[in-house]
Amino acid sequence: MKLPNAESYRIKMVEPIHRSNRPEREEWIKDVNFNLFNLKSNQVYVDLLTDSGTGAMSDKQWSEMMLGDESYAGASSYYKLKNAIKDITGFDYFLPTHQGRAAENVLFSTLIKEGDIVPGNSHFDTTKAHIEFRKSHAVDCTIDEAFDTVLDHPFKGNIDLNKLEKVLMDNPKEKIPLIIVTVTCNSSGGQPVSMKNMRDVSALAHKYDVPVYYDSARFAENAYFIKLREENYLDVSVRNIVKEMFSYADGMTMSSKKDAIVNMGGFIGFKHKDIFDKASVYNILFEGYLTYGGMSGRDMNALAQGLYEGTEFDYLKTRIDQVALLGQMLKDHGIPVQYPFGGHAIFVDAKRFLPHIPKEEYIAQTLAVELFIEGGVRGVEIGSIMADRDPETGLNRYPDLELMRLAIPRRTYTNDHMKYVAAALINVYERRDQIKKGFRITKEAPILRHFTVELERV
Ligand SMILES: *Cc1c(COP(=O)(O)O)cnc(C)c1O
Repeated sequence: MKLPNAESYRIKMVEPIHRSNRPEREEWIKDVNFNLFNLKSNQVYVDLLTDSGTGAMSDKQWSEMMLGDESYAGASSYYKLKNAIKDITGFDYFLPTHQGRAAENVLFSTLIKEGDIVPGNSHFDTTKAHIEFRKSHAVDCTIDEAFDTVLDHPFKGNIDLNKLEKVLMDNPKEKIPLIIVTVTCNSSGGQPVSMKNMRDVSALAHKYDVPVYYDSARFAENAYFIKLREENYLDVSVRNIVKEMFSYADGMTMSSKKDAIVNMGGFIGFKHKDIFDKASVYNILFEGYLTYGGMSGRDMNALAQGLYEGTEFDYLKTRIDQVALLGQMLKDHGIPVQYPFGGHAIFVDAKRFLPHIPKEEYIAQTLAVELFIEGGVRGVEIGSIMADRDPETGLNRYPDLELMRLAIPRRTYTNDHMKYVAAALINVYERRDQIKKGFRITKEAPILRHFTVELERV
C-alpha cells in the first residue's frame, strides 16, 4: 500500500476549545450585530477568521523566545533577524515593524504622495486603505482569469502586463511611485504569481524606471506553488525559489504573522540604501528605534526562526495539503469554491451559493453568518462590505466576487477539524433555499468598515 501523507510535526501542547449549541449561537451573533469580528473567541469552535498571527509556534521558536535580547539598541536579536532576512530573501537592508500594515505605513510615507497611482494585483485591504488614506489610487492590474472562480489557471495572482503597461504609459513616471505585487494574492483568493510574471513585471517596471515592491505575507506559499506548477522549478528548492522571486524586487513589506509563523511582527526589506535611509526616519517616528521597530527582542528571535521553518518543503506540503483537503470535500459536494484552491484559505463563491440574495444585501456576509449559526465556525466576508465605499463618490463598491474566506491557521487545527467545517458548510448548502434574505448596514466607519460594521436582517 502507498503510504499516505501525514503531518510533518506532532503535538506537544494543546489548547481546549468548546462547542456550543445553535440557540446560543443565534443569540451571540445577534448580540454583536451580525459582525463576526465582534464575537468572543470562546464563542467560536473552529476559528477560520484569519490565518494571521493564529499559527502555532514550534518548540524551537519558543526556545528562541527565551534567548531574546531586550536591549533598546543593537540587540543580538536584531542581528539574528537581519541575518535570517538576508539569508532567506537576499535583502541587505531591513526595518522591523510591529506588523504588515505598519510596514506599509512606513514605506508609503516614504514613497507615496497625494494624487499618485499605485498599480498592483488586487491590493490587500490594508494596502489599499493606506494608499487611499494618502489620497492616491490603487489600480488593479490582475489578469481577468482571476475573477472566474471555476477556471483552472495555475497562477491567478498574475499581473496582466498589458494593463500594467497602459497605466505606465498613460501617466507620468513621477505619479507612479511603486508597483505592488502581492504574493500570494490574498484578495483574489490566495492565488500565486508565477516566476515568469515576476520577471516580466520587473523588466517592464524598470523600463519605465518604477520600483517594484512585493507585499510578501505569503511568499513561501507562493514559492511552493511555483515549485509544483511552473515549468523547470520542480527540482529547485523552495529557498532558492524564494531567493529568485525577491531578486526581481526593489523591496518588500512583510506581515510576519503569515508565512513566518509568529503571532505578531513585520518588516520591510530594501535593496537600495537611499530608500532605506529615508524610510528609517518614519520607522523611528511610527514604530520604534531601528533595531526593534515595534518588536520585542524575543519576538525578533521567534521570527528569525519562523522564516526558516516557513520555507521548509515538508511543512509547506502539510499546510497546502490541509487547505486542499477542505477545498476538495466542499467541491465534491457541489459547493462553489474558488479553484484551484488557494494557499492559505478556501474561498466560497457566495454569489453562486446564494444566487437569490441581491448584492445590496451583502451575500458573502449572509453566508458567513449562516455558517457560524450552523456550526460555530467563523469565516470572513471578502465582498462588498470589505470593499468599502468609493472615497470620491461615497457609493458602495460591489466587487466582481463575493467570497466567504475560510482561512486556515498554520499548524493549529487537525484534519478532523477540516471535516467538521466541511460538514457544517454542507448542511448550510442543503438548506440554502430557506435562506431568503440578507442584511442591511445600520452603522459603519468611513474606512476599513468591515471590522466594526453593524448590521440587521432585511
Ligand atoms: C495580512 C496582510 C497584510 C497586513 O498585515 P498585518 O500584519 O495584518 O498588518 C498586508 N498584505 C497582505 C497580503 C496580507 O495578507
